[in-house]
Amino acid sequence: MSIGNDSGHRRLIILGSGPAGLTAAIYAGRANLKPMLLAGNEPGGQLTLTTDVENYPGYPDGVQGPEMMEQFRAQAERFETEFVNGHVVGVEFGRRPFVLHLEGGKELTCESLIIATGASARWLGLESETKLRGRGVSACATCDGFFFKDRVVGVVGGGDTAMEEALFLTKFARQVHVIHRRDELRASAIMQKRALGNEKISFVWDSVVEEVISEDGAAVEAVSLRNLKTDDTSKLSLGGLFIAIGHTPNTEIFRGKMNMNDEGYIDTVEHSTHTSVEGVFACGDAADSVYRQAVTAAGTGCMAAIDAERWLSSIE
Ligand SMILES: Cc1cc2nc3c(=O)[nH]c(=O)nc-3n(C[C@H](O)[C@H](O)[C@H](O)COP(=O)(O)OP(=O)(O)OC[C@H]3O[C@@H](n4cnc5c(N)ncnc54)[C@H](O)[C@@H]3O)c2cc1C
Repeated sequence: MSIGNDSGHRRLIILGSGPAGLTAAIYAGRANLKPMLLAGNEPGGQLTLTTDVENYPGYPDGVQGPEMMEQFRAQAERFETEFVNGHVVGVEFGRRPFVLHLEGGKELTCESLIIATGASARWLGLESETKLRGRGVSACATCDGFFFKDRVVGVVGGGDTAMEEALFLTKFARQVHVIHRRDELRASAIMQKRALGNEKISFVWDSVVEEVISEDGAAVEAVSLRNLKTDDTSKLSLGGLFIAIGHTPNTEIFRGKMNMNDEGYIDTVEHSTHTSVEGVFACGDAADSVYRQAVTAAGTGCMAAIDAERWLSSIE
């Protein structure tokens, strides 16, 4: 839907159509707030990049990520959410109502705003990696580790995230190779100690993945590696590859306009979704560097709608 010819002012606008934004829409719609939701450039959010989701409650047989997001959207539509295919490129929080600048030059204003713009996993940027996403290449061990029982897997990275992913994967995989571009880890001392002391984890130092190999394109079979010190190349057989080089929250447009941590995750007041700007609420992965799951995103999306509804009532 495109934005109609009306004033472009809404009581509540929600940014993002992943689990957090769509859950916020369901709750705000049922609270009679008639929210407008801007879907952004990635309608449905991160789960549209994956296949099987087996850990979202209510789906005992699992569900495909894109299908689940269709169902979230249908539920939000049932309660009068106004969907708009818009992406916000700038915000003005210094005046009320708030002003949102959209790609293409349009403007919207709102009394209150829910930010559910999510985060993006960082990838290596290889064509073969993109082709094999969901076919053995993953950026989330919590989500996909279970599919790799008794396999040999690789983890790319050397920070805390990579060590956490590697340690988690030892619960399923036969062996975990951590592939790191340097000869020492960036991870905290405690995480290093745990990973280095785990007999299922081995380290491939000074090396980068140059290609993810699959003969038939159906599943990861190996990676080709290059040693950055010697320039030697080698092949390592693997049944799965986890990229653990971090996430980037999609919050660049809010930088300098509200409190966030050094990585760009939006600060919220403890046990709530209130941000440092009154009337602006944040939920999902944009404000969560710790859990980053669909169910936690949906949970905080619900909180944001309740917080926004109470805040709007308090100012009227
Ligand atoms: C490959 C993969 C597999 C995963 N598998 C699982 C799994 O099995 N189980 C699980 O629980 N979790 C899984 N996750 C994690 C899960 O997808 C995320 O935790 C969840 O999607 C976060 O939801 P969110 O609504 O906060 O953000 P996202 O899903 O990231 O959605 C963000 C939304 O914001 C929109 N947006 C961004 N910027 C703007 C802007 N400027 N203006 C307007 N809109 C904007 C985007 O278009 C998008 O719609 C997986 C993630 C990945 C990448």
